[in-house]
Amino acid sequence: MKNLYLETARPQVAAPALSENITADVAIVGGGYTGVSAALHLAEQGISVALVEAGEIGHGCSGRNGGQVNPGLKVLPDTVKAHWGTERGERMNRMASDATSYVFDLIEKYGIDCAPSRTGTIRAAIDAAGVRQVRALADQCSRDGLPVRYVDAAEMANMTGTTVYKAGAFDARGGHVNPLAYTRGLALAAQQAKARLYANSRATALSKSGPSWIVTTEKGKITASDLIVCTNGYTGDLWPGMRQALIPVYTYIAATDPLPEHIRRTIMPCGSALYEAAWDVVYYRVDDAGRLLMGGRGPQRDARTDADYRHLVDYAFKLWPQLKGTTFPWSWHGQVAITQDHFPHLVAPEKNVHLMFGYNGRGIAVSTMAGHMLAERIASGGTADVDLSVRDRLTPVPFHDFWRTGAEITMSWNRLKDWVRGR
Ligand SMILES: Cc1cc2nc3c(=O)[nH]c(=O)nc-3n(C[C@H](O)[C@H](O)[C@H](O)COP(=O)(O)OP(=O)(O)OC[C@H]3O[C@@H](n4cnc5c(N)ncnc54)[C@H](O)[C@@H]3O)c2cc1C
Repeated sequence: MKNLYLETARPQVAAPALSENITADVAIVGGGYTGVSAALHLAEQGISVALVEAGEIGHGCSGRNGGQVNPGLKVLPDTVKAHWGTERGERMNRMASDATSYVFDLIEKYGIDCAPSRTGTIRAAIDAAGVRQVRALADQCSRDGLPVRYVDAAEMANMTGTTVYKAGAFDARGGHVNPLAYTRGLALAAQQAKARLYANSRATALSKSGPSWIVTTEKGKITASDLIVCTNGYTGDLWPGMRQALIPVYTYIAATDPLPEHIRRTIMPCGSALYEAAWDVVYYRVDDAGRLLMGGRGPQRDARTDADYRHLVDYAFKLWPQLKGTTFPWSWHGQVAITQDHFPHLVAPEKNVHLMFGYNGRGIAVSTMAGHMLAERIASGGTADVDLSVRDRLTPVPFHDFWRTGAEITMSWNRLKDWVRGR
């Protein structure tokens, strides 16, 4: 069980452990997209920033994900507006739509070597309910002038190389990247802008001294006037109640080595990344070297054996029988932060404190944007009106102590519903 990206992400980041007491304008806990993007955008405005990450930079979701740069929030655009009201909802939709271009622009601006591919994303329907969902997505987006179109079953077969799908919504805004390479590239850009990044430096306590915040690690401290905590699915008990405000759901990926050319050209010939409109979401793409990366559910604990990934491999064989016999030597997992309302949460429980989490499995674009918005908010002294709803308190997920059991039951139930519907 090895994370492929640790082999393929070319940029390397040298970030020492924090070993002294330092001061900064802003202290950041968490070295994924949210944290490094905030560090980059703050440092570029001349604001001094110090970030601590418990593992290596990109240790969490940002170094493990499916690499799909997905436009939009998890729920349909009209649902966003119904939930937040037209004005706020439209702003949130626009932000999440623009976020993909923002990612590809940053990659170009900083020359990040992360195999960017702007070949679109596809939401694929496996049944009638999925067809209704992809139709609604295509209709709502094209009504708003966005490049999303409905794709029928025959075209889906040509695009994907499998006849499983009843329809799809092709979204030209999206694409895919090597996610760890992208994280490291952002981190290098942040360092060049003079942000101080510290790896292998777990924050063990947060405390206050007058108006300042103190982030304590094993061998050093940061004293700062603003504090960002963006530990997402890896959140512990640093800030009271933050862990209970999200469900850290496990998701798994299994990947092949580069496929032989005659097979490679039959699998996702369109080059897009795909995720299924199903209860039990499967997502996949073929990377720049021709490896197939299959993602989806798995046990709600750290992986133990290859059996924990076998269902992903079997599903790949079902989609493309010509793959049978192919080995999947790479497999890994991570924990995404799911919120009860399926929206990202920016919580400001006290002055100068910013807790950012909950991208619900679609964070490459929106968390990059969130880092940018956090920087704007801090630079403005807390007055900038960002394109997210800012809450003043954390809302605990009901029955949080039982999240593993709840997630297992929900997944089994989802699997059953998909099976009844013909998957
Ligand atoms: C397997 C998988 C597949 C996914 N696929 C996709 C996809 O295809 N497309 C997409 O858009 N999104 C996807 N996601 C979600 C996406 O990766 C996340 O939304 C995004 O990376 C969130 O970034 P982040 O910076 O908020 O969190 P993270 O990248 O999780 O960063 C949080 C960091 O905080 C650190 N940390 C925790 N506690 C402490 C502490 N006390 N002190 C210091 N550091 C600490 C952790 O080590 C971690 O590195 C996927 C996630 C997973 C796990």
